[in-house]
Amino acid sequence: MKTINDFNFKDKKALIRVDFNVPLNENFEVTDDTRIKSAKPTIIKILEDGGSCILMSHLGRPKGVQNEFSLKHIVDKIEDIIGVEVIFAENCIGEKTEELASNLNPGQVLLLENLRFHEQEKSGDRDFAEQLSKLGDIYVNDAFGTAHRAHASTTIVAQFFSEHKCFGYLLAQEIESIQKVMETGEKPVLAVLGGAKVSSKITIIENILDKVDHLIIGGGMTFTFIKAQGGSVGDSICEDDKMELALDILKQAEAKNVKIHLPIDVLAANAFSNDAETKVVDVTQIPDGWQGLDAGPKSKLIFDDVVKQCKTILWNGPLGVFEMESFANGTIELGNSIAEATKNGAFSLVGGGDSVAAVKQFGFQNKVSYVSTGGGAMLESLEGKTLPGIAAILD
Ligand code: AMP
Repeated sequence: MKTINDFNFKDKKALIRVDFNVPLNENFEVTDDTRIKSAKPTIIKILEDGGSCILMSHLGRPKGVQNEFSLKHIVDKIEDIIGVEVIFAENCIGEKTEELASNLNPGQVLLLENLRFHEQEKSGDRDFAEQLSKLGDIYVNDAFGTAHRAHASTTIVAQFFSEHKCFGYLLAQEIESIQKVMETGEKPVLAVLGGAKVSSKITIIENILDKVDHLIIGGGMTFTFIKAQGGSVGDSICEDDKMELALDILKQAEAKNVKIHLPIDVLAANAFSNDAETKVVDVTQIPDGWQGLDAGPKSKLIFDDVVKQCKTILWNGPLGVFEMESFANGTIELGNSIAEATKNGAFSLVGGGDSVAAVKQFGFQNKVSYVSTGGGAMLESLEGKTLPGIAAILD
């Protein structure tokens, strides 16, 4: 795997695909700068080598050129974070931009305007990618968040760099973290899959059964498994059309010697509301009019025990409706268990969809080994897919 450590950027112009798709408030101020901070090590390494950086990213989902999606709004923030002046190119391609890029001196940083102001970015247009490629000597992909898209700047552009392309630190770290869980992880390996629906996680479950020793299934997915086995789930979220699949997963797990842990009790509520009446019930005996919205106390103890036995842990999806305080405790306690296991030497990776939001909300980001920066990209990696943005560098 070629990373930026394999290159010396002295007098080279690095064309870097970053993920600066950051949230802005109504005054166009960055409200979460994690993604900019995450790209800093790559930018600094190139500048310290004596090279220059041409940063390219998308921001939001513009329809053509729209001021509110301009990357000019984040120039100051990038300057604050990397401590270097940022030159802004008002278009990501074109003569003027080529001139700015060719005049760039070692140590300088150029930020290109939103790639998605051109529809050719998303369509993966070859001519557009070629125009981008003219700006730099070495292509660096450091945007995991878009690595699952075959867009011009994430994938197609790599074709124009033959040997001169590599992963930035962030993307390399993402790839290594996934490998640590899926391929080289110390045993026992555990995956915790929560979230709302079996249907959105099915490919992940099937792929992961070949990689793990333990699988905790929690959250709304629980009830499809419980009902399929003859339990009463009351008004809990349940996909009746996936019950057969759930039984098949249980069978596959048994054949593959994977131990599946489902909740045995739940915190049930008489409405989908933070203020609903609640009671702890057996997961197989949820009365009509009640729905399971969080893991119960016995389940939490079992999960804690499993987590602490394992040396490699992947966590995707909350164990309950964590957005409501009354049903966040199962997710918080699981986070605490994973944090403790990590402190005792386990490798823990959190990623995909809502788990990152939960981890940030409850302050676990520094207590786990790695928090992925990619939602969809992480989910597709866990499904076992090769991401086009990664394949393009490995080619
Ligand atoms: P996902 O994006 O598939 O990881 O699902 C995350 C969502 O699952 C969150 O919004 C949670 O509120 C929701 N969720 C977790 N547990 C339950 C449950 N028992 N019933 C309904 N929704 C749940």
